[in-house]
Amino acid sequence: MPAPADASTLAHLAIDWYDRHARDLPWRSPATTAWGVLVSEVMSQQTPVGRVAPIWLEWMERWPSPADLAAEPVAEAIRAWGRLGYPRRAMRLHACATTLVRDHEGQPPRSVPELLALPGVGAYTARAVAAFAYGQREPVVDTNVRRFVARAAAGRADAGAATTPADLAATVALLPEQPSRAARASAAFMEIGALVCTARAPVCGRCPVAARCRWRASGQALPVGPTRKVQRYAGTDRQVRGLLLAVLRDATGPVTGDQLAPVWSDDVQRDRALTSLLDDGLARQVAPGVYALAGD
Ligand code: SF4
Repeated sequence: MPAPADASTLAHLAIDWYDRHARDLPWRSPATTAWGVLVSEVMSQQTPVGRVAPIWLEWMERWPSPADLAAEPVAEAIRAWGRLGYPRRAMRLHACATTLVRDHEGQPPRSVPELLALPGVGAYTARAVAAFAYGQREPVVDTNVRRFVARAAAGRADAGAATTPADLAATVALLPEQPSRAARASAAFMEIGALVCTARAPVCGRCPVAARCRWRASGQALPVGPTRKVQRYAGTDRQVRGLLLAVLRDATGPVTGDQLAPVWSDDVQRDRALTSLLDDGLARQVAPGVYALAGD
């Protein structure tokens, strides 16, 4: 029977594994700025890191500081977002850059409350920047970390419903006292949750904390439940929005409704998708029946 979990042991085992097995993602370079960390976290929230990496590199080359991004129209941010999906994130990053220039001397602030006050920055992103950019002892809790902590430390098969205060408390209890090691432990927990302690098929045989994992020690099987539905994309309004946005993004000037029509034959759905782009501020009507990217 494996020994029960011990907070500091879990973190040390996780860090040791992370030092040898972490993926080589471009924003993990020691040279990455706080702004680079912030951008990487926003991009990675709803998009796989493999798709994020080339776009992040382009952004950092073009806009190495918030001031560089804030100096350009928001349309350029939407354009450079490419096909990462959920493009409102590009608008929020542009708004964030503008706020950083106006209120924070052009750099992300260090404290979680100040980070939380920035446009588009929530509980996860604020703590990720505090930990990964500034080496602070802050619990960084995403879905993968919640699951890892629930299994390894609490012996539960899954984390249940998200409750931010409880999730933060459970995770911070596992962090080493030394801030820089705590930040590394946070990165390690995320990586183990993403690569090893996955939702449906945890690879306990390759897990660095297997000998200290409470859930593994309990001998419980994964609950057999409905597998998570893969979200349909084809035929959804989201797909139509993406197609319309691609036309606006690639155009050198405003486009007419007739130019948008070929992307989707269902007039009602196309109009609905266009209206939602206008409502979200991603596109604007420059004249009756003529459209452009926001800020173009
Ligand atoms: Fe997850 Fe298995 Fe590792 Fe426990 S031993 S943390 S269940 S992968």
